Amino acid sequence: ARELRLILGDQLNARHSWYRQVDSDVLYVMAELRQETDYVVHHVQKVLAFFAAMRKFSQALKTAGHQVLYLTLDDTQDWPDLLQGLAQLCATHKIKSLRYQAPDEYRLDQMLSRLPGLLDAEVFMDDTEHFLTSRDAWQNYPNSRMEFFYRALRRHYRVLLDEAGQPLGGRWNFDQENRHKLPAKQPLPSPLLFDEDVTELHDQLQRHAIQTLGQVDPKHLIWPLTRKDAKHLFQFFLEHCLANFGRYQDAMTDRGWSLFHSRLSFCLNTKMLHPLEIIQTTENYWKTHQEQISLAQVEGFIRQILGWREYVRALYWEKMPDYAEMNELAATRPLPEFYWHGKTHMACMAQAIQQSLEHAYAHHIQRLMLTGNFALLAGIHPDQVDAWYLGIYIDAIEWVELPNTRGMSQFADGGWIASKPYAASANYIHKMSDHCAGCHYDHKRKTGQGSCPFNSLYWHFLHRHRDQFCKNPRLALTYANWNKFSTSEQEAILATAETYLQQLDQL
Ligand code: FAD
Repeated sequence: ARELRLILGDQLNARHSWYRQVDSDVLYVMAELRQETDYVVHHVQKVLAFFAAMRKFSQALKTAGHQVLYLTLDDTQDWPDLLQGLAQLCATHKIKSLRYQAPDEYRLDQMLSRLPGLLDAEVFMDDTEHFLTSRDAWQNYPNSRMEFFYRALRRHYRVLLDEAGQPLGGRWNFDQENRHKLPAKQPLPSPLLFDEDVTELHDQLQRHAIQTLGQVDPKHLIWPLTRKDAKHLFQFFLEHCLANFGRYQDAMTDRGWSLFHSRLSFCLNTKMLHPLEIIQTTENYWKTHQEQISLAQVEGFIRQILGWREYVRALYWEKMPDYAEMNELAATRPLPEFYWHGKTHMACMAQAIQQSLEHAYAHHIQRLMLTGNFALLAGIHPDQVDAWYLGIYIDAIEWVELPNTRGMSQFADGGWIASKPYAASANYIHKMSDHCAGCHYDHKRKTGQGSCPFNSLYWHFLHRHRDQFCKNPRLALTYANWNKFSTSEQEAILATAETYLQQLDQL
């Protein structure tokens, strides 16, 4: 072969133009690497799902006639790092040119940009052909909020528009109609689970003493590992979840772990599915099922992928590398131990953490308004919060994890994403979930032992950051409410919060 083409673990895009032709001069290389298993402690299902999906992807390329060199952890264990490993391969195979697809992570982008200085071969970086905007898209929408970014993309890709280019239904946003609590009688679809035996891979992880977190039954891995399975999961979503997606998007419950969410983030982030294919297929599906599915559900879903997903990526590339260091609220406390085992008396947190350990998954509102909100209120250091989110979720890759965690949920970026912190008391959690009924803590009380920690911590948070937030018009009412408490009430609330902050691990 004259050309080496590197495929990273999150570049499993079978429809990339690279693969249009079989070329005997091209050798594809895929590698399982310690640098990828070790940059943070990952959930065991995440490592297994990535490696298993990579193996299947390499098989599919081989079946299609391409030459592929697949290197397992055994094969790469003597590589000092990816760059030197690639340099060795180029020398062995007398490679004239090396191509790679633009990495989505800053870390890998920096690393691979050093290749030209190391190799005799020519080096080229190609597009991943995955995203709907370019890396520098932020430049086109400086300082703009997600909503405007999203509208521009709706127009550009002609999504949910009428003939005149106006939004279908006369509005860009149907959030007002969505976001209900889950009624006790509302049936939930049981999630479509895959059933992949990955024991051999699991043994390999153990042999190499890879440190992981969370649980797995390696005989029955539940995540889709091929494009075919990913399409199957998408079809399941259209048929069983879309009709209620927006309505219960923000609902939280003890009754299930994914409600009407798609669980497509892993398929998207590994590039097994293309965002535009999901968006257009969803729109078309809705057009033929309008009796069962309202526009609000479809718009709510498309907004997540066309809007939020592209938006956070644009922000990531605009603000890195500084973004990863930001700590606007000067938060310093360590992450409570219960984030790693889920044993806490707070019923909502126990559900969110335990299901994350069990399935490497929590839906958006659990991530934002439970685990994220708690860390925000308690003033946990964003490095520790990031490490947790980057490790535990099946879909966690830094370009999407970091803006969501450090930005949206921890306000550590000073408000690039969120115009106010996503801080909430038990009032919100009770309104949107069924967790409070059986909880050890009383969601109605703000003070004393047994009061819900979210209440006193909420006020403590607002009180201690008063200088930062009191001029924010979106918080004016909240501060006015705080001022209505008598001094002794305020003192009691703050004292309760202080007590809880001293014993976070015991909550
Ligand atoms: P659905 O609810 O079915 O939504 C459909 C798709 O929309 C998702 O698959 C995802 O691709 C996209 N999407 C939805 N919300 C967002 C968002 N805020 N940003 C980017 N894309 C979005 N998402 C990740 O993919 N990886 C992460 O590491 C990640 N970390 C997060 C950390 C925190 C603190 C928060 C608050 C959110 C995070 N998200 C992350 C965003 C979102 O929570 C997940 O994409 C979603 O929960 C995945 O489940 P789903 O596929 O069932 O999503």
